[in-house]
Amino acid sequence: MNVKANISSDTKVDYNGPYVMSIGGRLVGANQTFDVYNPATGEVIANAPEATREQVDEAIAAAKDAQPGWAALSWEERSAYLTAYADALDAHKEEIITLLTTEQGKPRHSMATVEVEYAIYWVREVAKRKLEDEVIEDTPEHIVKVAHTPLGVVGAITPWNFPILLGLWKVAPCLITGNTMVMKPSPYTPLGTLKFGEIAQKVLPAGVLNVISGGNAQGAWITEHKDVNKISFTGSTATGKKVMASSSGTLKRVTLELGGNDPAILMPDTDYKPLIPSLFDAAFGNSGQWCIAIKRLYVHDSIYDDFLKDFVAYASDKVVGNGMDPNTDLGPIQNKMQYGKLLDMFADVKANGYKIALGGEIDESLSGNFVPITIVDNPPRDSRIVREEPFGPILPLVRWTDLEDVIADANNTDFGLAASVWGPDRDKAIEVANRIEAGTVWVNEIHIHGIDIPFGGHKQSGMGVENGKEGLQEFTNTKTYMFKK
Ligand code: NAD
Repeated sequence: MNVKANISSDTKVDYNGPYVMSIGGRLVGANQTFDVYNPATGEVIANAPEATREQVDEAIAAAKDAQPGWAALSWEERSAYLTAYADALDAHKEEIITLLTTEQGKPRHSMATVEVEYAIYWVREVAKRKLEDEVIEDTPEHIVKVAHTPLGVVGAITPWNFPILLGLWKVAPCLITGNTMVMKPSPYTPLGTLKFGEIAQKVLPAGVLNVISGGNAQGAWITEHKDVNKISFTGSTATGKKVMASSSGTLKRVTLELGGNDPAILMPDTDYKPLIPSLFDAAFGNSGQWCIAIKRLYVHDSIYDDFLKDFVAYASDKVVGNGMDPNTDLGPIQNKMQYGKLLDMFADVKANGYKIALGGEIDESLSGNFVPITIVDNPPRDSRIVREEPFGPILPLVRWTDLEDVIADANNTDFGLAASVWGPDRDKAIEVANRIEAGTVWVNEIHIHGIDIPFGGHKQSGMGVENGKEGLQEFTNTKTYMFKK
């Protein structure tokens, strides 16, 4: 079947707005709207619709109506639709990148481009994956098979740090497995998601992907709704707990991708100089607003002083500024709520007299939410800056001598999202990695993701996984069937 033939060639969308929701194939506004800000300037850039409860119900009803027909298509037909969607997104790539920088703040020439290109690639590649039935037993008399059937309607709720990537990470596996979706982006960054919803309406059958916008209440209306069969949530641990509690009313399936406080351990005698750019990007990329950012960097005593000096020198050359400026390395903090949390964390570092090797002072007179790259030199292991997830461009370097101590410290947290271990003795580093309690541990590399690589948190960093075969399976029920031959 040539799905392309069914698709309108007109995928034009207006990036100047108005920004509208996608409900049952229709583009709709709302009586109430809320302001969306550019975090680099503090200016209002657009208004987004504040969905009413009736509109959320309508979106869920539309997804429910569309689901049987969508599930009845062959896997190949759904794959062709998703490929066409990836093509349509690709045609609007440049506008989406600009919109992402304008509402989220990340640099257009680097992070924003990477996020949007990667997200489109994700849709295209997931479209090629298929969950096959598994044969568990096959004897001359009897056969047992396991199939993976769609769950129905999925509610997707996303945060503001990677709205396009994290949104499309949910859309592609949800749709390919035969489910339909109602998505709600963060109220801080709704615009890009509303636009990718609008583009979807030109390509996908009505009701398959619905996008609504609003605040936290709209999220709760989705999680408690009886006709939603699964929630795919990415956000903070605190909200994740509320989502799980609310989902329990109808025993919805939940996938929770939550917060982290990822440690990186530099082993003795690590040849660290070539690693500095990767370590810097892993800690400060997206201005530290990254669930899997390095948030605690444990450096062995044998290299601590030299590392600190060289790392600070490297970081000193980086430019914090408006993401539309090609010279900018790090953009602003995305919103005033997070900026306020960072003001509080910086005040705590100052009040406790921890040594600051770089940065340390936030200039509150600027109109944008700019926070300087800040490196804290060996604060106590029980300090807030080591124990909490700051979600900003501030990193503690912690000196260590005893391996058992550093492993215990790395694990001394309710989080367990990811970690990395770096060192010249690879086997030793792998041994340490095996003892870190986290969903992903990288050795001598970091932030490698892939369509076929499952990703998820241990402990209070989450439940379930995204990506990989396991990630696809989380959008399905396991159905066992058997018969006598
Ligand atoms: P948040 O939890 O405040 O909000 C996330 C989303 O949940 C938003 O869309 C929000 O409107 C919605 N929401 C809020 N209250 C709700 C409720 N009661 N019911 C339903 N929905 C509700 O998170 P945030 O501040 O947007 O994002 C930052 C957090 O996300 C950080 O902790 C970060 O580590 C985490 N994160 C995790 C991953 C991961 O993959 N593990 C990825 C990115 C971000």
